[in-house]
Amino acid sequence: MAGMDELFGIDVFSKKVMKTMLSAEVFKKVEETMNEGKKLDREISDAVASAMKNWAVSKGATHYTHWFQPMTGITAEKHDGFIAFSSGGNVIMDFSGKELIKGEPDASSFPSGGLRSTFEARGYTVWDPTSYAFVKGKILYIPTAFCAFSGEAIDKKTPLLRSMDALSKQAVRVLDTLGIKTRRVLPMVGVEQEYFLIDKEVYKKRKDLIICGRTLFGAPSPKDQQLDDHYFGMIKPRIQSFMEELNETLWRLGIPAKTEHNEVAPSQHELAPIYESCNIAADHNQLTMEIMQKVADKHGLVCLLNEKPFAGVNGSGKHNNWSLATDSGLNLLSPGKTEQENLVFYLFLTAIIKAVDEFQDLLRISVATSTNDNRLGGSEAPPVIVSMFLGEELTEVLDAIASDTSLNERKKNVMKFGVTSIPEFVKDSTDRNRTSPFAFTGNKFEFRMLGSQNSISCTNIMLNSAVAYALSSFADRLEKASDISSCVHEIIKTEYNNHKRIIFNGNGYGDEWVKEAKNRGLLNLPSTPDCLPYLREEKNIKMFLETGVLSSAEIDARYNIQLENYSKSMLIEAATMLDMTKKEYLPAICKYQKELVENLKLKKDIGIDSKSKYEIAVITKLDELSSITYEVIEELEKDIVIVKNIEGYDKARYISDVIKVLMNKLRENIDKAEVLCKEEAWPLPSYSTLLFSV
Ligand code: ADP
Ligand code: MG
Repeated sequence: MAGMDELFGIDVFSKKVMKTMLSAEVFKKVEETMNEGKKLDREISDAVASAMKNWAVSKGATHYTHWFQPMTGITAEKHDGFIAFSSGGNVIMDFSGKELIKGEPDASSFPSGGLRSTFEARGYTVWDPTSYAFVKGKILYIPTAFCAFSGEAIDKKTPLLRSMDALSKQAVRVLDTLGIKTRRVLPMVGVEQEYFLIDKEVYKKRKDLIICGRTLFGAPSPKDQQLDDHYFGMIKPRIQSFMEELNETLWRLGIPAKTEHNEVAPSQHELAPIYESCNIAADHNQLTMEIMQKVADKHGLVCLLNEKPFAGVNGSGKHNNWSLATDSGLNLLSPGKTEQENLVFYLFLTAIIKAVDEFQDLLRISVATSTNDNRLGGSEAPPVIVSMFLGEELTEVLDAIASDTSLNERKKNVMKFGVTSIPEFVKDSTDRNRTSPFAFTGNKFEFRMLGSQNSISCTNIMLNSAVAYALSSFADRLEKASDISSCVHEIIKTEYNNHKRIIFNGNGYGDEWVKEAKNRGLLNLPSTPDCLPYLREEKNIKMFLETGVLSSAEIDARYNIQLENYSKSMLIEAATMLDMTKKEYLPAICKYQKELVENLKLKKDIGIDSKSKYEIAVITKLDELSSITYEVIEELEKDIVIVKNIEGYDKARYISDVIKVLMNKLRENIDKAEVLCKEEAWPLPSYSTLLFSV
């Protein structure tokens, strides 16, 4: 392998490459576009396109694609060749500024949630110069935003970019009143990605894994994660070679993969890159998920990104580490040493507390999928109740500021906050609380409710815009204030008092928390249909409109798409369960019963006088289970017909309330039967085979 410094970003049309391939004047314009979102004029874009094409061709590219993130949650690409005919009729490689900046794919088959009717099939893809183009295989990938003909966003990138702009604008306003000059404030995001790796041959034997990406049946393995012997354990050679190739591929694409380790469940692992600006982190996470799957395949493995591939053991999540950085790299969430730094820190902290409390529902919605519903609230996953962990010390300081009471000796300066200083907050004193969905971890917040296959865009759209909204109300007050210091004090005091119910430093996995959260009036929304209607609450529409992140039509579209995705994926799971039960499990149960019956008969035939307890008990139990199973099948099939005639919210509700219950019942019975049958009689690989397949 080449040195990492040589390899890193080798397939990226990076600033370094641009500098060598563009004239100084063009490069300066591109840099301005990247930093300040300025528009590129036509001549400049032609020059960039030409350089980009020459560079890509030198790397073996023959095609380019506008790479975008439709509402399916995965990325989309359509390849166009650079090939063209010159006026003399010769074949040339061509790529214009116009082609770089804008594409018009036929977008009729992407979900639009009603924003676009099929006869207006065209959509636009628009180059996002803030995320670098790259070559993968023989294709030049150009990151783009995707919108409908009418201009409405039908992707995940457009609102993310809008939310970053909104946040930057309001943060800059607030900082300005505090005497800190910066042109932009960027949300910085580091994503810890969990995943499972299992053997491809074993995977191929399970229809549920192939169709749904998770097991829909399976009795527990005698051993799974009880001994905690996988977490941070020695990495097996086959996994190690997967990780090496994965890292190399990611580095080539400029993705700064850094940390890798085994996770809690058998066959579960984690990868974390170094944090980057939110938009780039989102693109890179999409690429990481895709590459994980491709590299796994090359190693005879399958990478499962589903949130709950196996019942009873940990599911996979994604931690969104989030902070705010100014142009000069100052982290606004880093507790500082000087009075000014601390004013900034506590003020931004308060904005986040206000944002998370007011928009708990949106954070919950941002991770709402049928598959993440299976994980949240389960083993080692955050509960569905959104709360924030700040740690005792930080909470104490805020309590003191907000109640104008004194702290102990070390922190007593806090009393004079308005005129002198606020206490220096010791970074390392934040205890780690793994049970909190939204934890302060020293100089960043870590949001842990994301499912492993969620795009990080939705969460960051919600977070950025909610914080922008809070900051905008602070800026309104600060811009009118004559004494900034006491105005900051006043803001922290009122807002903290109004929103401190969201802070919870205790055990988020405990049942007491559910009761306590209810007393505090916090939302507890277990399922996707439970939470989605909140998206259209008046306060949320108002926030999205004021920050300019989503229009009313876009909110409605997203609501429809998320509901539809929920219903569709649940019904695919239900159909897969029915298929497996009818074609694989019930016949296997009958066959095993027959074997036992034959055994009984044989004993009788040769005159053995035996009680045959084993055979009789198992035959009887299997008979009971298969009869119940058959009844559940009949009921489920009836309900699937009923649900075909229901639409929208009612459909999702019916699936969650009726169909899901039957699916669980079906699984319960089949899993009970599995335990009764001999290993070879069972048609599919068991949990012990799956979990210890590598
Ligand atoms: P953990 O102990 O939870 O694994 P780490 O310190 O290893 O936490 O960080 C996990 C992720 O957080 C990494 O992707 C890292 O780059 C990212 N991270 C670190 N500092 C910041 C920051 N200031 N802003 C955003 N992300 C950060
Ligand atoms: Mg972490």
